[in-house]
Amino acid sequence: MPRPQRVETCQTCGLARGGGYPTCPECYAAAEVFWRADWESLLQAEGIAAGSEDERLLADVVLAEMDQHPWTVVDTAMTLVRCRSCGAELGGGPSDCFECQLAFGNAIAYDIPAGEQGVMTANEHALRIGRHILRAPHQHSPNILTAWRLTFPRLLTGWLPTTEEAQRGMALVKAGKTEAFEAAMRRVDAMINRSAQP
Ligand SMILES: [Zn+2]
Ligand SMILES: [Zn+2]
Repeated sequence: MPRPQRVETCQTCGLARGGGYPTCPECYAAAEVFWRADWESLLQAEGIAAGSEDERLLADVVLAEMDQHPWTVVDTAMTLVRCRSCGAELGGGPSDCFECQLAFGNAIAYDIPAGEQGVMTANEHALRIGRHILRAPHQHSPNILTAWRLTFPRLLTGWLPTTEEAQRGMALVKAGKTEAFEAAMRRVDAMINRSAQP
C-alpha cells in the first residue's frame, strides 16, 4: 500500500488527516487502510470472509504464531480478539490488566530482532506504537496523547522525527506549549508537501 505523499486537512474533524484516529471516521480510514490491506490479503489467501466467526478464529491462530506474520496482521488480530481478563480488545484494556499489558509487550517485543513479523522500519515501528497508544487513550497521560496525536498524521506519510526533534516536541507539550509543537508540525508538513510528487 503506497503511503500518502502529503499531509492534508481532514474534511471531517479539521485536524491533519490521521490526527483524529480512531474516533474520527475519516482519520480512522486514512490510517487503518494500511493495516487492513495486509489483513484482507490474509483473509483472501485463507478463503475466510470478513466479519465471520472464522475470521475471529484466524486472529487467535495469528496471535499464537505471531512471529510468522507481518506486524500489521498481528496488530489487526489483537484488535479482533477480546482479552479474556477484561473483555476489551486485546492490549486495549485498563492499565492494570495484566493480560493486556503482556499481549502488547509480546507483540512489540518482536520489533527488536529485525525480520520477525516482517522487516520493520523505524517509521513503521513508530506508526505501530502510535496506533496502539491512540486506540487505548485511557492507558496514557494527556501529554503523551497530545504528542502522538500531533505526530501520527505525519508518520503516515513516512516521516520520522529525529530523537532530538521528538524530545524537543515532548518538552514543548510538557511545558504546555502545544501551539509551538503544532507550529513545528506545520513546518514539517510544508517540507513533506514540498517534496511530494506532483
Ligand atoms: Zn478526522
Ligand atoms: Zn485486558
